[in-house]
Parts: sequence; structure tokens; C-alpha cells
Amino acid sequence: MNYDHLMIHYGELSTKGDNKKAFIRELGKNIRHALKGFPTLSFRHDHDHTYVVLNGEDPKPIIEALQEVSGIQKISLVYRSEKDFASLKENALSLMKSEQGKTFKVIAKRSDKTYPKHSYEIARELGGYLLKNCPSLSVDVHHPDLSLHVEIRDDAAYLYAHTYPGAGGYPLGMNGKIMMMLSGGIDSPVAAYAFLRRGVRIECIHFAAPPYTSDAVLDKLKDILRQLNVYQPDIRLNIVPFTKLQLAIYQNVDEPYCITIMRRMMFRIAERLAKLHHCLAIGSGESIGQVASQTLESMIAINSVTNYPIIRPLAVMDKLQVIQLAEKIGTYEISIRPFEDCCTIFKPKKPKTKPKISECEYFEKKFAWEPLVDECVRNVSVIIMKEGEEAYYEHDDLQEGRE
Ligand code: ATP
Ligand code: MG
Repeated sequence: MNYDHLMIHYGELSTKGDNKKAFIRELGKNIRHALKGFPTLSFRHDHDHTYVVLNGEDPKPIIEALQEVSGIQKISLVYRSEKDFASLKENALSLMKSEQGKTFKVIAKRSDKTYPKHSYEIARELGGYLLKNCPSLSVDVHHPDLSLHVEIRDDAAYLYAHTYPGAGGYPLGMNGKIMMMLSGGIDSPVAAYAFLRRGVRIECIHFAAPPYTSDAVLDKLKDILRQLNVYQPDIRLNIVPFTKLQLAIYQNVDEPYCITIMRRMMFRIAERLAKLHHCLAIGSGESIGQVASQTLESMIAINSVTNYPIIRPLAVMDKLQVIQLAEKIGTYEISIRPFEDCCTIFKPKKPKTKPKISECEYFEKKFAWEPLVDECVRNVSVIIMKEGEEAYYEHDDLQEGRE
């Protein structure tokens, strides 16, 4: 018996109405994209499932590719059968004979309500038939080696015994776009992945402080983007030349407040670029309490420069969990390569853990930072990473009239 289809079960089943249509449409696009290396496949979908017709292909690499696509709850390897009960019995029998295992149960479901047998009759009669014809098998309803699912749908019956977990979440593109702050460390790529899983597209922003930070950071970021291309095939990275502003901060601000002021500037610039590129929020890899600038008090002081939503998917996760996810998405090894982040180079010895907004405002009055922020925004360079291939634009020529 050769399985001939994959049945894709949708995630987030509470999605209804127009949203569900958009869900299915976006997911369909993303599935085709993920499987474009398999030109012989064909696709169908209905309200509850998308089907991949295998046309003789080995299902294993196809399932693996589908497991990276967000919006998929699970994937079943199925055999499509005629619906009449005689065919069903025959196909169920040959499926069971081709499988390992000594105990089984049948789980039947009937979405075609005109079918002459009820679900429990289908399960009982098929089970009896299999027992009679496979003497080595016995029924175990609690812990069977094999659960044979039989689904009677309008177009056909589907038989399956193997189901693989999907990534869950929403299809990419369903939930808008965020401006993701990408540093080159362990956390921010994992935060980016959390958005992608949720169906949110990312555009990235990185603050570079050459010559204090080197091009090695950019190489790291490119490698991270290549890994993230698995989930979003084209990603823009805005590189902000931050040196001048950063030096001005260090000349005018008392050392313990430098990081807070620096991050306030980062958020101001991120907001400007987010608006320019139609991003609905700013994403960051901060986690509560991880370092001085990530206390709740710091977050209040930093947030107060913008009304834009700032979303921190890792806020309540601990580092070990984050590292596990970084390993899973293949960014960990890249992130731990040594590099100089602009935060680490200008790191004060005793950063303020409970900064006050009034103090921040006091320091910011001491120098004209607005033109420096404008200059940062004007002089952004862009890397577009598209399916692992990069394109570079000095001083983002594309900014004018984009989108
Ligand atoms: P990561 O591992 O992501 O670098 P971290 O634990 O080193 O995080 P910080 O350096 O305090 O923490 O940065 C917190 C967050 O701020 C990062 O996750 C990232 O979203 C953002 N960030 C920090 N530095 C930069 C930078 N140079 N460019 C863009 N974003 C940055
Ligand atoms: Mg960092």
C-alpha cells in the first residue's frame, strides 16, 4: 500500500469567516512556495484541509519542508479511497498489512452526513473485518500501536495512521509586518522567529557603529537572515549608521544613563523607519531582568519616547528556553560567534537599572540629537536577503516612494 496524499490540518481552528478564507489562501501560497522544489506535486484544498497529491514522490522530505510552514497544525500521510464500504474494507486491510504493530484501534469520522453508516458503525465493522483477516492483530483502545483513522468526506474517504506535528500559529502574511530590532546576539533572531510563527512578516533594523563595530557583524546578520529565509523568503535589513549619534550620547550623558538614552534613540529611529515601511509595531528581543537595560523600570523609560506598540516576545522566557529555540532554528551557532555589538562596546561600568524619565529628558536637553536622528534615518543602507541571496543598497535608494 502506498500512501498517495498528505492531508494538512489547519492551525488556530478558532479562525472563522473571512479570516478563515484569508488563512487558507495565504497558507496555500506559503505551502506551494515551501514545496517548489517538488514540481510533480499537485494541490487541492477545502474548508478544513489542504491536500498535497504526492504523485509518487517520497513523502519524507515533503513532510519535513511542511513542518517549517506556520499555520499548519499537523500533517497526515493519507490514502484516498473510494467511499463505498467494500472498497473501504479492502483498502483498510491492505494498509494494516503494510504497517508494523500488533494492536490497533479504528477512529472513524463522517463529515458526509449522507453516508449510510454512522461513525461508530464504520469503526466497529471495519475493526471486526480487520481482526478477522489479520489474525496476529488485536484491539487496544487505550494504547494501540496503530490508530487507523477513517474520514468519510464529500469527495472520498481518507485513511491514515501517521500524523506529524506542524509549526502551528498563523500563515505568514496574515498578521501584518513589524520592524524587528536585530542585534546579532542570541535573543533577537528567536524573537523574530516568534513573530514569523504568528504570521507576522518581519523587516529588520540593525544599529551599526563602525569603526567600533566591524563588518563581521554584518556577515553574522546575513547568515541569520539566511536561516530566517526558511520562514520568510525575502527579508529587508535596514542598517542604521549609529556612530555619530552614539558618540554624541557619550559626550553629553552621564555614564550610567548612556545605555538608556542610546536605547531611547534606537526606538525613535526604529519608529521612523517602521512608519516609513508600513510596519505596525516594533519587535525586540528583550527579556525582563536579563541585563540593566531590560528591567521593567528601564523599559518604561525607553518606551516613553514612542506611542508605537513595542512587542517583546521573549519578555517572560528564560535564557535556556531561548537557546533551545535558537538551536532549533539554526541561529545559535551563528549568534555565538564573537562580535562587537554597539551596546557592548560603549557599555558603561555601572548602568542605571532604574532610570527615571525626568533624568533622561534632562540629559537629552543637553545636546541637539534631533538632526543626528534625522541623519541616521536618511543614511540607512539596506540588505535584502531573498532565499539566501543578498542584494545591497547603499543609502537606501529605495526609500523614496517605496510601497
Ligand atoms: P540579543 O541576544 O538579541 O543581542 P541581548 O541579550 O544581547 O539580546 P541587548 O543587547 O540588551 O540584549 O539588546 C536587547 C534587544 O535590543 C535585542 O534583542 C535587540 O532586539 C535590540 N538590539 C540591541 N542591540 C541592537 C543593535 N545593535 N541593533 C538592533 N537592535 C539591537
Ligand atoms: Mg545584543
